[in-house]
Amino acid sequence: MSTVKAVGRFAPSPTGPLHFGSLISALASFLDIRSVGGHWMLRIEDIDPPREVLGASDVILRQLCAHGLHWDGPVLYQSNRLAAYAAAIEHLKSKDLAYYCSCNRKRLSTLNGIYDGLCRSLELISGETSVRIRLPSQPTLIGFYDHILGDYDQNITNYVGDFIIQRKDQLFSYQLAVVLDDHYQGITNVMRGSDLVDSTPRQIYLQRCLGYSQPQYAHIPIATNALGQKLSKQNCAASLKQGEESLTLWSALDWLQQSPPESLHNSSVNEIIEWAIAHWNSKKIKPSLSISAPHGF
Ligand code: GLU
Repeated sequence: MSTVKAVGRFAPSPTGPLHFGSLISALASFLDIRSVGGHWMLRIEDIDPPREVLGASDVILRQLCAHGLHWDGPVLYQSNRLAAYAAAIEHLKSKDLAYYCSCNRKRLSTLNGIYDGLCRSLELISGETSVRIRLPSQPTLIGFYDHILGDYDQNITNYVGDFIIQRKDQLFSYQLAVVLDDHYQGITNVMRGSDLVDSTPRQIYLQRCLGYSQPQYAHIPIATNALGQKLSKQNCAASLKQGEESLTLWSALDWLQQSPPESLHNSSVNEIIEWAIAHWNSKKIKPSLSISAPHGF
């Protein structure tokens, strides 16, 4: 009997260099997969040009290598996958699982983020339109077991309603692209920040529409700054410091409650990574949505 290899991934958007928060996601998913001898894939989610920063992808690749986080196979750039996303949209439309919507920003702003289905039965054709998923007419409850947070349920009908898979400006939505590419890359284990836990039911719903298998999900806490905000480029999170990779890795392992020994502080990047793979235990991570970043990050 052949055993299926676990496949994990890190999927940064190239909006800037890695900071402590993004390194934690990369490190946790890497260790979780390497500790069971699986493959770790890298995907650059560059499908939103207005948000991207020139050169950020290359910086991210260099930072990962400097921290000993080496991926398997070629890097997948979502900007090379646009034809696959377009084909999936056609497929969903042909099955009546998606439709065009012409609602403008002003109207949508009155709906509190929950689409009311105005364009559902209008049979609009392509134009100044977005494309939305058509949820079943009955409320759709999606539940899954999160390997860190535990059971998670969401009624997507009440939470977002028919959600967008292609925007009016023709850009493909994160929800659609992530589902297609997790499938394309054969991902079996998704470990990422808790800010994406509420996106997971939409992703599971899309997987079901497309007949894909569902990966196993685990959402780790996000690292927050002194004001309790997620470390992010918008909140001016500091880029990881070159030359301090060992200290950063040790602090990230400590933050992930892996109890790295003090003696590992001065070890090389490779020694720290080797120790971390051998001692990785995802059950030690607190089932919490956020934890403050250590001082200095
Ligand atoms: N590209 C997303 C981000 O940088 C992560 C996507 C994912 O892990 O599903 O926040």
